[in-house]
Amino acid sequence: MTETVTGQVAGVHHRRVGDITVTALNDGHQDVAMSTVLGIPPEMAAAMLRAAFRPVPRRTTVNCFAIRSGTRVALIDAGCGPAKPTVGFLAANLAAAGIAPAEVDTVLMTHLHPDHFGGLADAQGTALFPRAELRLHADEYAYWHDDVPMLRVADPVRRQLFFGDARARLAAYRDRTSTFGGGEVFPGVTVVPLPGHTPGHAGFMVTSGGQSLLIWGDIVHVQELQVPRPEVTMAVDVDPAQAQATRRRLFDQVAADRQAIAGMHLHFPAFAHLARDGDGYRLVPDAWSLDLHGDAPG
Ligand SMILES: [Zn+2]
Repeated sequence: MTETVTGQVAGVHHRRVGDITVTALNDGHQDVAMSTVLGIPPEMAAAMLRAAFRPVPRRTTVNCFAIRSGTRVALIDAGCGPAKPTVGFLAANLAAAGIAPAEVDTVLMTHLHPDHFGGLADAQGTALFPRAELRLHADEYAYWHDDVPMLRVADPVRRQLFFGDARARLAAYRDRTSTFGGGEVFPGVTVVPLPGHTPGHAGFMVTSGGQSLLIWGDIVHVQELQVPRPEVTMAVDVDPAQAQATRRRLFDQVAADRQAIAGMHLHFPAFAHLARDGDGYRLVPDAWSLDLHGDAPG
């Protein structure tokens, strides 16, 4: 007798970049109020989502990425943690991918927002990656540890959610945290500074055997809106003008270079290319590939 299907198979998808294996690990999704979408009339944003057969308010997926390079394992971002029923699936998907938390020797952070740092430590402040060194951009560490921007946040709940929780999660890695400004931060992985969304927001370029993949962090939160209209910003952008300028510059570059990309909030499995389309762009998801390679022909 067949059983009733109640869930998906694991949110795990592998992609080879030369000798490196990058694994997309889905953490779940969040439904977020449309008031967080700026730079576009709300009714137009809602109409664009409906035209794309998406729910309103916006449904934003959350992905993390594991990188296996030689004998080493890095994780990029840690997802939300079990903040609500629809998120916190990183741990289960990491296990499904055959990676034990103690095997992760490096955690690279794109930036310190709750949907990226939430899964670093549990509510008691215990690090969930017991052997990992935590690495992030120096400007990112400095901003979230600076009391001046923290005290500008009037709402105490919001202040705790962003600044308080960022500090608490990072404290679990106090003795094994290091910052970077650029350069190689893991074998085959170099930093691409992408400031604006947050001051130290960083992407990571994975390069091996003549292939490359840019994991661009939060360059896009709502692909149905921001890919065709890069001017659309988010209420959580620390510097919306800079976020928009960074997105435009990066879009221009990855489209011209035919650069393979991946993103934390692109629909799972989140591997794609970007193509110019009139005044905007369009996203072309990678085709399913049994040999794990997803490169478009040069
Ligand atoms: Zn995010």
